[in-house]
Amino acid sequence: MIIECPYCDSKVDGEVKGEHTSYNPEDDPYPFKAVLLKCPACHSALLGGSDQIQTGPTTSEWSSLTRLWPQQETYIDWEIPEIARNSLIEARRCYKAKAYDACTVMSGRTLEGVCQDHSTKGTNLIHGLKELKDKGIIDERLYLWGEELRKHRNIGAHATKEKITKDDAKDLLDFAQAICDYVFVLNAKFNRFMERKDIAK
Ligand SMILES: [Zn+2]
Repeated sequence: MIIECPYCDSKVDGEVKGEHTSYNPEDDPYPFKAVLLKCPACHSALLGGSDQIQTGPTTSEWSSLTRLWPQQETYIDWEIPEIARNSLIEARRCYKAKAYDACTVMSGRTLEGVCQDHSTKGTNLIHGLKELKDKGIIDERLYLWGEELRKHRNIGAHATKEKITKDDAKDLLDFAQAICDYVFVLNAKFNRFMERKDIAK
């Protein structure tokens, strides 16, 4: 079965060592299959997952394998909207390519995406972030992270002698990721939790 091996950095035809299909219609309407594979080149263990997809009224097939472990670098929670997600993916690509200035610029653009998704009135990041804080969408700490990211984004974006270091680029990328997780993933989770609580009442 075809899976991406992170150690070989390429798609490989993994040797299937075992698999298990589970089906729990209450949680997920589609059967799910976990597959343990061995990379034929480096012999690493890889875990893939596949969903059974309906292809017609009576037909279905398994989707191509998504690597679950080691976790894919491109994995981004689906709750993060496209406007922020695309920049976050770009930022990770830049980091992997050791383009640290570009990575920080893309991390900054991720925050612009967060602002745009919340339709902040301020068109630039400095006002957008403040508005997110004032509306309670981000708290004081995340606001400070966002501010640092914004300042470094400006260093990365303009022709100066200052360079963004690898460590700083990684931290700033993690800040952008954490802000997205907080604003989109955890907030959505919390709202669903509260809805369930209301229904239960
Ligand atoms: Zn491999």
